[in-house]
Amino acid sequence: MSEKINVLGVGFDNVTMDEAVEAALALMAQGKSAYVVTPNPEIVMDCRRDPAAAEAVDAAALTIPDGIGVIYGSRILHTPLKEKVGGCDFTLRLLSRMEPEEKRVFILGGKPGVAEMAAEKLRAQFPRLRFVGAQDGYFKDDAPVVEAINAAAPDLLLVCLGAPKQEKWMHANQSALRVGLMIGAGGSVDVYAGTVERAPKVWCDAGLEWLYRLLKEPKRIRRQMALPKFMLLVIGARLTKKSPMRKK
Ligand code: UDP
Repeated sequence: MSEKINVLGVGFDNVTMDEAVEAALALMAQGKSAYVVTPNPEIVMDCRRDPAAAEAVDAAALTIPDGIGVIYGSRILHTPLKEKVGGCDFTLRLLSRMEPEEKRVFILGGKPGVAEMAAEKLRAQFPRLRFVGAQDGYFKDDAPVVEAINAAAPDLLLVCLGAPKQEKWMHANQSALRVGLMIGAGGSVDVYAGTVERAPKVWCDAGLEWLYRLLKEPKRIRRQMALPKFMLLVIGARLTKKSPMRKK
């Protein structure tokens, strides 16, 4: 795809938002069920302790830096990534590019009813897109879900099962799926459905989206403890002038 930048063992594509959208459209045109991952520092830390998560992330066709922490990390390591490519905005940009061609979209994930709600809201925003399926993310067997997705033949499948479950799911089911492209889109389904409020732009511009989310959902503190650990590891790697390998 492009030059990869290694941030604590995860290889990120060094792309701007526009370049990421173009790359995604090219992958979609190939129709090989390739997938996009959007790691933030929490996911990088998940990959360091969970080899299956690391393998799934490594197998992605496009890895975009979702989270200002990854951008700061890459700068500290003296291999700066061009810019943050937030997964939620990236997907919206891609949908707007798909709209003129009336492409097909399937949304998988979220609590019962949320994917349908997201599809309804996105349909209002992108009326020419075809929302061909919506299914919650609390199913037991993959096979019937894969069958339903293949029957709907989407150009884009949004997989919103939370990380790293969604990355593992895409990796495990890639060969059985017949879709254009997948995105591990996490909590975006809740944002599109309107069940979770996004941080206002000023917070995002200040690089404080994580703090806004923490204030809104204090139970995220456990997950967000990954951020200071990530930063300490980055600083350690910079001081020793090498990016430490993942624990095997
Ligand atoms: N989710 C799901 N199935 C699961 C676990 C989670 O569909 O087994 C959904 C959850 O309902 C939420 C989404 O995954 O809509 C993302 O969850 P979270 O905010 O924890 O993930 P993040 O975006 O932070 O990775």
